[in-house]
Amino acid sequence: MKASRMYMHTLREVPAEAEIASHVLLLRCGMIRKLVSGVYGFLPLGYRSLRKIEQIVREEMDAAGGQEILMSAVQPAELWQESGRWYAYGPELWRLKDRHEREFCLGPTHEEVFTDTVRQNISSYRQLPFNLYQIQTKYRDEARPRFGLIRSREFIMKDAYSFDLDEDGLSKSYQEMYEAYEKVFDRCGLEYRAVEADTGAIGGSNSHEFCALSEVGESEILYCDACGMAATAERAAFRDEPMPAEDELPIKEVETPDSKTIEAVATYLGLPQDKTIKALLFSVYRGEGVGPDYAAVFVRGDRQLNMTKLVNALGVPEFAVEFADEEAMHEATGSVGGYTGPVGLHDCTIVVDSELIEAKNMCAGACKEGYHLLNVNYGRDYKADIIADLKLLQEGDPCPVCGTPVKAARGIEVGQVFKLGTKYSESMGAYYKDENMEDRLIVMGCYGIGVTRTLAAVVEQHHDEDGIIWPVSVAPYHAMIVLVNGRDAEQTALAESLYAELTNAGVEVCLDDRAERPGVKFKDADLLGFPVRITVGKKATDGLVEWKLRREKDFVELSAEDAIARTVELIRNEERGSKWQRKS
Ligand code: ATP
Ligand code: MG
Repeated sequence: MKASRMYMHTLREVPAEAEIASHVLLLRCGMIRKLVSGVYGFLPLGYRSLRKIEQIVREEMDAAGGQEILMSAVQPAELWQESGRWYAYGPELWRLKDRHEREFCLGPTHEEVFTDTVRQNISSYRQLPFNLYQIQTKYRDEARPRFGLIRSREFIMKDAYSFDLDEDGLSKSYQEMYEAYEKVFDRCGLEYRAVEADTGAIGGSNSHEFCALSEVGESEILYCDACGMAATAERAAFRDEPMPAEDELPIKEVETPDSKTIEAVATYLGLPQDKTIKALLFSVYRGEGVGPDYAAVFVRGDRQLNMTKLVNALGVPEFAVEFADEEAMHEATGSVGGYTGPVGLHDCTIVVDSELIEAKNMCAGACKEGYHLLNVNYGRDYKADIIADLKLLQEGDPCPVCGTPVKAARGIEVGQVFKLGTKYSESMGAYYKDENMEDRLIVMGCYGIGVTRTLAAVVEQHHDEDGIIWPVSVAPYHAMIVLVNGRDAEQTALAESLYAELTNAGVEVCLDDRAERPGVKFKDADLLGFPVRITVGKKATDGLVEWKLRREKDFVELSAEDAIARTVELIRNEERGSKWQRKS
């Protein structure tokens, strides 16, 4: 492609709405274009990279035995009502009605549609197992679309679904997909980590998230160098330590004026925070059109509540839990903002963190303005409706597997794999007949890759202050030829012949033949970040060019033939992904 003919518009300024590097650079390179909040279009350069990522995904899915299909984004509400997710998916589900008032949604994921497709065609055990996938546009009405392609409302996902006879079959399918994901993200040039994850709105038993490591990532990961444990913060279990034995002392009410926070009450009473109980008050919505009831949640004063563990313990979707209105909850349950404790509450679900069960002589709110209770003990003074691990595991806490202090990192979730088991086949009635002609439920897995998010993650990991530094495998073009002076006949002739020969050799090359100053061309070449830059300038007279890798600082002077050979060799070596990683 010649730059003079290309629909390409680079920007010097940082667009106001962009906060992170990938968003800034994809906009500045003119690769994507925002249409409206969370909705982006792809311009020529962006679409080239996107198609390369899609192709990598496609090749690895095919190699793992997947068969590609394409389902519609428009899905009838009835399927979602059958699975129970018309309600449970909540406000992220993008709902619409046709002219006859029939309800639909734009698919955020396709478990229902794939289960429906398969249940109509499968009768015998002989037809299983198999794996179907698609690369298709998804819709989620995200509460806070942000970071460009990373959290958008319309995005491209690869979603695969495996259909097996039994749990053993599922384990094999899951492992195959897991390995295929490793290949995909290796080939895209990402530094990533696969970690245990919560199953969220998709459901099922086991799950792993693939996180591209990045400071701006929204996933927090806890990991242990000693035993290899790695999980998202949402998922990571917390192992309760044994408590020192203590006699239960008589409960005692004490005055604690202006002590509405754990810090304040601990300071006022001269207690360590781990001798206090923190209360968190929530409204819980348990169904469509049903008003809230209340939950009072108690964790040790020095701990953080893990919201994912809480919603799992309550057995409701995440959107169905919100901080309670203090006054309304006071009327209904006797809670007192800043002074709530587990003693004296009524008409609410009491949810207690497992660690508090053995904790003796704790300090908790007295459900009375300006007062706390000392020597509060579980069993004697209060009981729980639900006991669960509700704590957020944090950096330095003991590893739940081996006890070594854990480390924390951040990542961008680029993919997730789930063992669904029979969650959808059961609710939607997807059976096969076994050898004895008995009906059995199909055992399913599902596997997603955020294709557009992966593009952003690649840029997030591969850039410097001047622009993108594309890995060869997903670069829009492999090489940029910078023609320094387009009015010079010799320079032009050499640039044109390089362009023709590289193109013939299968190199994707862009020739910057625009009537721009050299400084502008060099700046754009750095910004666009194609792996190889070949500069044709004054030494064209001697048949010499400057050959430079975007990821390296210095160029070498080469004959045109050597420049071609070096470029072809590099592309050949790195086209299927390089082990080269970002230099920090
Ligand atoms: P998140 O926790 O980031 O909201 P999720 O766990 O809900 O994502 P999945 O249902 O697992 O997402 O979807 C599969 C993949 O689709 C994710 O791993 C991610 O790469 C991608 N994805 C999900 N939501 C978005 C979004 N709003 N914009 C872009 N990509 C997304
Ligand atoms: Mg996910």
